[in-house]
Amino acid sequence: MRYISTRGAAPVLDFEQVTLAGLGNDGGLYLPEAWPSLSAEEIGGLRGLSYVDTAVAVMAPFVEGTLTREELRSLCVQAYGRFAHAAVTPLVQLDQRHWLLELFHGPTLAFKDVALQLLGLLFERFLAGTDKHLTVVGATSGDTGSAAIDALAGRSGVDVFMLHPKGRVSDVQRRQMTTVLAPNIHNIAIEGSFDDAQALVKAMFNDPGFSGKFALSAVNSINWARLMAQVVYYFYAAVRLGAPERPVAFSVPTGNFGDVFAGYVAAKMGLPVAKLVVATNVNDILHRALSAGDYSQGTVVPTPSPSMDIQVSSNFERLLFDLGGRDGAATAEQMRGFEATRAMRLTNAQREGASRLFASDRIDLDDMALAMRWACDGAGQVIDPHTAIGLAAARRADLPMDVPIVTLATAHPAKFGDAVERATGVRPALPARIGDLFDREERYATLPGTFEAVTGYIAERAVARP
Ligand SMILES: *Cc1c(COP(=O)(O)O)cnc(C)c1O
Repeated sequence: MRYISTRGAAPVLDFEQVTLAGLGNDGGLYLPEAWPSLSAEEIGGLRGLSYVDTAVAVMAPFVEGTLTREELRSLCVQAYGRFAHAAVTPLVQLDQRHWLLELFHGPTLAFKDVALQLLGLLFERFLAGTDKHLTVVGATSGDTGSAAIDALAGRSGVDVFMLHPKGRVSDVQRRQMTTVLAPNIHNIAIEGSFDDAQALVKAMFNDPGFSGKFALSAVNSINWARLMAQVVYYFYAAVRLGAPERPVAFSVPTGNFGDVFAGYVAAKMGLPVAKLVVATNVNDILHRALSAGDYSQGTVVPTPSPSMDIQVSSNFERLLFDLGGRDGAATAEQMRGFEATRAMRLTNAQREGASRLFASDRIDLDDMALAMRWACDGAGQVIDPHTAIGLAAARRADLPMDVPIVTLATAHPAKFGDAVERATGVRPALPARIGDLFDREERYATLPGTFEAVTGYIAERAVARP
């Protein structure tokens, strides 16, 4: 499998290269040159398979030429062996139509673990026996950081510099990052929002002086391997609910458009997806883009669902590229326009293409709290604020009564205990696997959100290219 950039001017890469590189050196994001497809028989054949066997079947075409099926399988056994539920991503029924897909049984209690546990192992494998040293720089709204740090702490050949917006992640999220004291882990709290942190990371990749000096790599969902790993659970859930004979809809609490783009990939591969509901909080750039063609950056409003407090959704570029006829030059121009003016219109072709598969909704604080209470009182399920946004959108979505709707449960409620308690009166307990998080020592730097401050800090601590 070969990978091309959405902006058409970066080198074509294989799976190993695309995993290590993250972002394209033309500022674009990598995608497979063509979507692989599974026939209805092949999809039917996934029924009853374990999570790991499903993962191998779904991901094999993407790693072809780099990993054999046996190698992929052994990495999946290791990655998903660390999950606390035997089904890895179990489905829970809420009522006749509504289901939750619980993606939070990994080590750091959010769906990011599903991809990052595998990505950590892929990095280790691709670096083993080489003298390459990777400098991972990432921006996190909370959950990517903890999942990446758990996956990479103590691994040789990799340093991690993780930027989070100071004071805008939950205590559990921050402590899951800052109490990891392994010498290769560097946490930086920056004065600013997640979008500021993400813009700094992009600027580092695009600065030839900085990116020439260090072998930079990304663990944000701009990294293709992450999206690939997330495609798996769409297949896993859908075949359990009747695919390929019966189409299934998904509602996805969305920020950077990574998780829901994985659903789009599943549909492209042949999974009968009735609808992908893009659920945003009041930071609604994606809802405006999909409902009105208006992709314009607003000001980030902090909410109880911080992992979705985003006004620039990086992975949306992948959809624009694919829907716009895969024209790299046109995508580059569209994105340059957005970067210059912070606003952009979708083309008619992009709007039409998107409306076939996507619906969208914007959920405010009241509707979020109502969904938490409905799940708790009506179905006995305590859900986190992000999941509640997905569920609220799922319950409002205009879908045929016979289509099952799966809401992706993206975080464990205990990760956002205060918000859950406020809405439901129930204080979710931290699972035992989190241990003594609140007694551990924290370590992190606080820096102004400027390019000079952050690159200066990293340059003093990172390993330069030979
Ligand atoms: C990251 C995250 C999201 C948003 O996922 P994207 O891939 O950025 O759209 C939603 N919920 C939780 C709990 C998250 O950690």
